[in-house]
Amino acid sequence: MPDPLDDYRRKRDFGRTPEPAPAPLRRDGGDLAFVVHRHEARNLHYDLRLEQGGVLCSWAVPRGFSYDPAEKRLAVRTEDHPIEYEHFHGRIPKGQYGAGTMTIWDRGRYELVKIENWDEAIARGEVKVRLYGRRLRGEWHLVRTKQAENSWLLFKSRDLYSGHARDSALGVDLEGAPPAGPADELRPMCWQRERAPFADPAWVFEMEFAGQRLFADKAGLLGVDTPPPIAEALAELACEHALLDGMLVALDARGQPSRSALAAALASGEHDGTAYYAFDLLQWEDFDLRRLPLLDRKAALRTLLPPDPHLLYVDHVAGNGPALLQAIVDAGLPAAIGKRGASAYVAGESADWLRVPAGDVAAPTDATPTAPARTRLRFKPTNLAKVYWPAEGFTKGDLLAYYQTIADVLLPHLRDRPVHLNRFPDGIDGKSFYQREAKAGTPDWVRTVDIPHDDTTVPHHVIDDAETLLYCANLGSIDLHPWLSRAPTFDAPDYAVLDIDPKDAPFAHVVRIARAAGKLLRGIGIRPVLKTSGKNGMHVFVPLRPGYTYDHARMFIEAVARVLARDLPDIATIERLPNQREGKVYLDFLQNRRSQTIVPPYSVRPVRGATVSTPLFWDELEHADLSPRNFTIQSVPARVEAHGDLFRAALEDRQDLLAAIDALQDAL
Ligand code: MN
Repeated sequence: MPDPLDDYRRKRDFGRTPEPAPAPLRRDGGDLAFVVHRHEARNLHYDLRLEQGGVLCSWAVPRGFSYDPAEKRLAVRTEDHPIEYEHFHGRIPKGQYGAGTMTIWDRGRYELVKIENWDEAIARGEVKVRLYGRRLRGEWHLVRTKQAENSWLLFKSRDLYSGHARDSALGVDLEGAPPAGPADELRPMCWQRERAPFADPAWVFEMEFAGQRLFADKAGLLGVDTPPPIAEALAELACEHALLDGMLVALDARGQPSRSALAAALASGEHDGTAYYAFDLLQWEDFDLRRLPLLDRKAALRTLLPPDPHLLYVDHVAGNGPALLQAIVDAGLPAAIGKRGASAYVAGESADWLRVPAGDVAAPTDATPTAPARTRLRFKPTNLAKVYWPAEGFTKGDLLAYYQTIADVLLPHLRDRPVHLNRFPDGIDGKSFYQREAKAGTPDWVRTVDIPHDDTTVPHHVIDDAETLLYCANLGSIDLHPWLSRAPTFDAPDYAVLDIDPKDAPFAHVVRIARAAGKLLRGIGIRPVLKTSGKNGMHVFVPLRPGYTYDHARMFIEAVARVLARDLPDIATIERLPNQREGKVYLDFLQNRRSQTIVPPYSVRPVRGATVSTPLFWDELEHADLSPRNFTIQSVPARVEAHGDLFRAALEDRQDLLAAIDALQDAL
């Protein structure tokens, strides 16, 4: 019988390479081992090696691993390696076979899935394995292609771990996580002292909820009878084993977490208002995560949680305690808990946790808090883990979280306006459809207005509150398309809008035209407001005094567009037919019409990058690094935090057109 390591030996000079020479030793019994080497050779690739028959069967995977079962990766079968290679890492010198750096990227045990005989499976060209690593987890499939003898495809099977594209189960480096030892006595980590509100980039701040501090695993809460809806949610955690830390909470009649409401819920068996708020992850599978930084543990926790209103993630605000404190006061909660972002989890009191009482902050005069803890939705968000932006991995849950965060500044721009939905139920790459009509089955708490159309009336959605905003986002409406006029004065727009729409023209041309538009409008006594479209264009709004019609608005913007096209003939056009525009930026004035819509500021767009239509200071047009891609669901909340709503003037600074129209006539 030929020695399977002949190829391995023949390719190497063991006097020169640090790689192990095969020893005669064979090991049998026990677990099968797998190892993945990250091999920075001429081309970076990953070498997957599976122990079989005393050797490591190997595949080189140029593009690495993906947890998205749809992403099938080429895997080239290479020569078997000796079993000692499981622990090898180092530099293979220049001139030697495979020269470059070899590091161990993942390692663990594995099992064959439904395979009786390895050699037969290889001969058949189909191998299924279950991996137990730090990065690679669950079932993976190797299938030989018909292209070439050594050419296989590697892909994730559908299981607990499969989902959006990523190359490690938790998306977090578990290198520093040791195997979990025998269960020692569990004691919760606690704050040591209280402190006045403070800001420090090394700290994060969470809301403190009144309830019962409890650990939880997939089977339920530890030490108490688990309310059934919480037990069902915990069973859905995306792993085989996890140990969570958090609070069991019940909401009282006012929607506030309350200890007495919890006692009543547990006594009565009325469990609907109970939820487990998870804020830490101590174990994942067979690894002890307590030494990892808090922020890594929280990121890992977040990936495991199913979308379920009875099992919630306690999010945090980074760095800015006072900002969260105000939200906490608004929500009627007692305190924030400050935690050092890099801290390990230790039992008992720690200086890495602090309690920041809300007592010192002024209570709100307005009794309509909007913080997440008070928003008790009348509908259940669905499929929150569905990936809407595949390239970035942003989910539908991220979309809803963004809209919840931004609701306060966005809602005034939507209030009282009919809105059309643009629904992407499967994310930005899936099928989409445009929806004007609020269909039968729309919940009765969602406001609609009837708009006359032909011989009938068509109900349209109106987004007046955060709940309806989240409801529309939950329908997959990534962006929103409100009218320029409000109920009940549907024929009187609140603003005239110039839509600077480049299609494929360069963004630099858009910037030049926007600058010229600002200059022109200011020159005739107008105070225009500016925002990105969220794609590659820009929108210039001129807020109007009551009494103007769509005809006034359109004629005015048409005149502005004509002046701009005349002054910048190389880059701007008012040509309606796309194939006549010669690559120029289109100045669209026809949006100024009843039943036409324009995305509001802070609307997310269904394009790569999860970019957001964002109000700008006019002098930002002078910044060389201005790019619409800088404004995303990740960056815009901080920008709003810093600058407030730069588009407020679109609602408040309502202007007279007549003098401006006269001045514009002169310009033409
Ligand atoms: Mn290699």
